[in-house]
Amino acid sequence: MAAPVDKIPVELIEILRTSHRVVVLTGAGISAESGVPTFRQAQTGLWAQFDPLQLATPGAFQNDPKLVWDWYSWRRKLISESQPNPGHNALVDLENHYPEFTLITQNVDGLHQMAGSTQVIELHGNIFRTKCSRENRLISGKIQTAETPPFCPNCGANLRPDVVWFGESLPEDELDQALGAVSTCQVFISIGTSTLVEPAAALPFIALRNGAMVLEINPQITPLTPQASYSVQGNAGDLLPILAVQVTSS
Ligand code: NAD
Repeated sequence: MAAPVDKIPVELIEILRTSHRVVVLTGAGISAESGVPTFRQAQTGLWAQFDPLQLATPGAFQNDPKLVWDWYSWRRKLISESQPNPGHNALVDLENHYPEFTLITQNVDGLHQMAGSTQVIELHGNIFRTKCSRENRLISGKIQTAETPPFCPNCGANLRPDVVWFGESLPEDELDQALGAVSTCQVFISIGTSTLVEPAAALPFIALRNGAMVLEINPQITPLTPQASYSVQGNAGDLLPILAVQVTSS
């Protein structure tokens, strides 16, 4: 099996070194090596019998708000015990290197910001924020009620995590910013995403149509793989640090 360093073509590094406008899209895969399971990885323990793709929906919350709240509480705890990994850190180095660098993430875990990335567009919200399920308003400060889920102090409706569930619309401003960056980038790097969840899944294809070089980093084949300009198979935590060193060293 090729060592991670041998998987990165020399001409790809040359393109990355001479580009100025770079967009990165990350998915759950970049946080897998931090111990945060992707939705398509088997879960362990208490939650093994539940399918995350079924729990992360408005319908699931309507049917059983306590179940969904408890699942998010478990995920929040898991994430709060996690640390950024070398893949997250390498993206900080790339942000510092490029004049125009935009990091679009589908992750809700905040690990990019914890690593030190400052230009992060969170397309699917953040698991550490809570909002009212009726009024959509964010709740700041400590939640006082002991109910599960807690009630909105303003209207009494259930509170919910400020994440985008399957079937819900993305936050407009974030999507506009992401589309703006994708429309002008020279390089688009898709990392650790199954390229199945729309509309984020469309972004690399928009970049391709606009003439950008599209690189995919993923241990598995995705719908993007056959169309990407380059597809490097492997873990983000192995490949990104090597790539960042090669791109940023003079
Ligand atoms: P996904 O679960 O559909 O796909 C994860 C992808 O990561 C897969 O293609 C897999 O092959 C790849 N992968 C696994 N390990 C990897 C590694 N070490 N390095 C690189 N790639 C690796 O996730 P998705 O495409 O992000 O979409 C699903 C939804 O799940 C998103 O909406 C996201 O909000 C949510 N989600 C977020 C988190 C998080 O915040 N960490 C975790 C789970 C799910």
